[in-house]
Amino acid sequence: MDISDIINHLGEDRRDYYGAVAPPVMRTSNFCFASVEDMRSNINREFEVPFYSRGNNPTVSILRKKMAALEKTEDALITASGCAAISTAVFGNLAAGDHAICVTNCYSWTYTLFHDILKKFGVNVSFIDGTRIEHFKNAITPKTRLIMLESPTSFMMELQDLKAVAALAKQHEITTIIDNSYATPLYQNPAELGIDIVVHSASKYLGGHSDLIAGVICGTEKMIRKLFSQEYLAFGGIITPDNAWLILRGLRTLPVRMKQISETTQKIVCFLEDHPKIDKVLWPFAKSYPKYELARQQMKGAGGLFSFTLKTKEMEKVDMFCNKLRRFLLACSWGGYESLVFPGSVLYSSMNNNKAIPFNLIRMYAGLEEPAVLIQDIEQALEYV
Ligand SMILES: *Cc1c(COP(=O)(O)O)cnc(C)c1O
Repeated sequence: MDISDIINHLGEDRRDYYGAVAPPVMRTSNFCFASVEDMRSNINREFEVPFYSRGNNPTVSILRKKMAALEKTEDALITASGCAAISTAVFGNLAAGDHAICVTNCYSWTYTLFHDILKKFGVNVSFIDGTRIEHFKNAITPKTRLIMLESPTSFMMELQDLKAVAALAKQHEITTIIDNSYATPLYQNPAELGIDIVVHSASKYLGGHSDLIAGVICGTEKMIRKLFSQEYLAFGGIITPDNAWLILRGLRTLPVRMKQISETTQKIVCFLEDHPKIDKVLWPFAKSYPKYELARQQMKGAGGLFSFTLKTKEMEKVDMFCNKLRRFLLACSWGGYESLVFPGSVLYSSMNNNKAIPFNLIRMYAGLEEPAVLIQDIEQALEYV
């Protein structure tokens, strides 16, 4: 089945709802049965059938089928947020006394989960850079049960060699989870490289319009069934049918949005690489990117998120540059239609406890505006640096 079939048709049994082309939003909490026998036989099949919407809901199930197919895994679960996807998958695979490994420059709340919260439940965590396979080899102990990856990382754009990490983890019977939000299922399918669980923040490209928060967990049927019957139902971090519907709508245009966004980003990155006021540009598909070869091997493309450092050593100039931008909104997140800027220096005064990001690093996200308009905006703002 090709990507357009998955996005346009998979999971949509249109005869079940009058041939409606767009699926209905099944805004219901519960589902009723014809007899006690019917109800009794279905209460133990909550994984397969709609019983109560904290488990299955038909609108959410359409999305679930599409996400599993896009990530080339057997099944998927849809959650209230990317963080709910991560915490559900992590708690489902760890117990007191276990050891876990996590990449240092992961998403900030993944860091909090591994650095602070897991400690309270008796799980030891090693943080590693993750850019070399030796980092993983050295960190593994007989108690290691889980490796948490994020490739590329969403600020520093660091890559992990997914095939090598997956092979190493299999030798030691360690479960691997990757946050694949950056690449989307279109540009990277970690399950094909041997990674066990793929999670997404659907708040980014999958929703695609900056109007919802949601997450996805993809894996084998066995793993998804295990998570469903424990953490997913017990923690209850589920998506509403309305938000699932919005993601279904967002998915319809995912391939065209990604194509446009990565072409625009390529142009902006080329402009920045040649600019005298720019020091380094970080984007996995930039020719100057240190792990360009690895990026080409494990990714089919790179999206609109990139970082760069300005040559200036003055924080005021970094701030001035960002303040002078007119097309790039000063905001967190990414993956929507609008271009964004997030200065690394903002993190210096916030509650974020991960201080690996240089003050002169600026993260940008290219949205769906014309590339020339965005380049011109950066050019005029650079005049103030
Ligand atoms: C946004 C983000 C998350 C968290 O997702 P939410 O949907 O905001 O909970 C996790 N990982 C990455 C890489 C993100 O960018």
